Amino acid sequence: MLFISPTRFKVGFMASMASAFLLMACAPAHQKDHRATPESAHGRTLKPLVKSQKAMISVANPLAAQAGYKILRAGGTAIDAAITAQMVLNLVEPQSSGIGGGGFLLVYDPHTKKIISYDGRETAPKKVTPSLFLKENGEKMAFFEATVGGRAVGIPGLLKMLQLAHQDYGRLDWSLLFEDGAQLAEKGFPVSPRLHHLLKKDRFLKKDPIAKAYFYNKSAQPHPVGHLLKNPAFAQSLRQIQSGGVDSFYFGQLADKIVDKVTSHPTNPGLLSHGDLMSYKAIKRAPVCLDYRSYHICGMAPPSSGGLSVLQTLGLMEKYDLNNDPKPLIDRTHLFLEASKLAFSDRNHFIADPDFVKVPTDELLASNYLIGRQTLIQHNQTLKTPVPAGGPLLYRQAFAPDNTEHGLSTTHMSIVDSQGMVVSMTTSIENAFGARQMVGGFLLNNQLTDFSFLPEKNGVKIANRVEPLKRPRSSMAPTIVLDQETKRPVLTIGSPGGSRIIGYVAQSLIAVLDEKKPLDQAIAQGHMTNRNGATELEKGTEAAHNRAQLEALGHQVKLKDMTSGLHAIQILQDGRLAGAADPRREGVVLGY
Ligand code: GLU
Repeated sequence: MLFISPTRFKVGFMASMASAFLLMACAPAHQKDHRATPESAHGRTLKPLVKSQKAMISVANPLAAQAGYKILRAGGTAIDAAITAQMVLNLVEPQSSGIGGGGFLLVYDPHTKKIISYDGRETAPKKVTPSLFLKENGEKMAFFEATVGGRAVGIPGLLKMLQLAHQDYGRLDWSLLFEDGAQLAEKGFPVSPRLHHLLKKDRFLKKDPIAKAYFYNKSAQPHPVGHLLKNPAFAQSLRQIQSGGVDSFYFGQLADKIVDKVTSHPTNPGLLSHGDLMSYKAIKRAPVCLDYRSYHICGMAPPSSGGLSVLQTLGLMEKYDLNNDPKPLIDRTHLFLEASKLAFSDRNHFIADPDFVKVPTDELLASNYLIGRQTLIQHNQTLKTPVPAGGPLLYRQAFAPDNTEHGLSTTHMSIVDSQGMVVSMTTSIENAFGARQMVGGFLLNNQLTDFSFLPEKNGVKIANRVEPLKRPRSSMAPTIVLDQETKRPVLTIGSPGGSRIIGYVAQSLIAVLDEKKPLDQAIAQGHMTNRNGATELEKGTEAAHNRAQLEALGHQVKLKDMTSGLHAIQILQDGRLAGAADPRREGVVLGY
């Protein structure tokens, strides 16, 4: 086994990254990120593009970036680095993702030049029924009524997914990949500004005595920014998985603790059992792909709607010349929002777990179909929402639409290793701090709230209704773009942000691939989304300046904070790498 001693591993700029983070964590708000350039073209603080020759990681926290970087330097693959960075993220960004949750992973294999995807989505316990989120009077529960406690906890899939990917693409010993997370949990890490902020805002976490004792001080205040937080329980969990493998999570003492926590919640218990944990399987799936201009773009297949909906949005935009056309900005904006609307109408209607529902994936991406849908878009007027779904009639009649909203946690990382392997991975515990249930030093997910709370509408079943052992529909959209001709990867990208992920990723792809914007600017640009309802523009950015003109076209406009967390790497023509991290979160890029 290769073991890298943290003391032996010294890279000057990484040490300075760590101190930069500590400084950042302690600095007053106005001088928070002194590594960033003062401003971008539209006033948002950009994190400058990072360039390197061989390998790179872009991830939501500097300590996770360091850990992943270290593995890449030691000859680990992009999968090895992803596992390592994920374990650190679980510790330092506990609100977003972890072994109590799930995720999706895409990998580009440089030998076969193929993209493979892994589904580690949480799964509903065997004992659930379609009325899981209905009150006694038949109405649906309020979101937090369902979320807080054991009810919405799905069978965690992250570890099984990482294990499967590691069997296929790992090079370093499994146990090594848990070392940094375990050591950091033992020694402590500085509470980041974002973690502090979210702890302050949260109304439910304190109700769990274990979470309260860990995240808050004796006066029930969140630990301050920069506070060195130790998590011996998490260190112990990682040490168990290190030595006993993934089985120690799904079969051992950790399984006992998880089942007990979920089923013995005093007011909102859940139905997770030992049998559920033991039988969980991560799934290798074919990705969904579309040829778009000179590119071949692949994303996550159902149960995520991320891939299909990003690709539909792009497919609907393909007719427009977005590169050379002197089209006014407002026209492009309007067209993009209309395309998003149409993509969401199909998403809400058709997409669910494909092992339970036949999703017409090929039909929805067929070029004839997209050309037909595209004719609905008009330049001078907006489509009235909700736009009804298209798709094959037989399928359409089988289901009613579902507009289930998503929460605001989740995290995305992009990695390229020195052998040309590319990873795009989005992981989640759903809402920030998940179900607000802490066990073994980590938080349990509330991913089952991604199901439709209502099983049917007007007597017609909803495709994404709760069913035993089914996976809830997701919006996560890890994406890898290849050059169509050479099959060479050119971009890896993804983001958190609930169902807005689809818009964040689609908009960034257009900015990079069509408008040829530098990656840092592409992901920092003001967001705009339409999820088959109101048009949302990101508050305080140049996107909000379009408000009056969009309203004149008939859009119902809302200004919103839109906290994406886009982390992306471009593989340039000459093989060099250019990486960017979203200025809206705490991520960084490291490479060599
Ligand atoms: N649960 C969401 C999904 O799977 C992600 C939540 C988020 O991004 O905040 O699509």
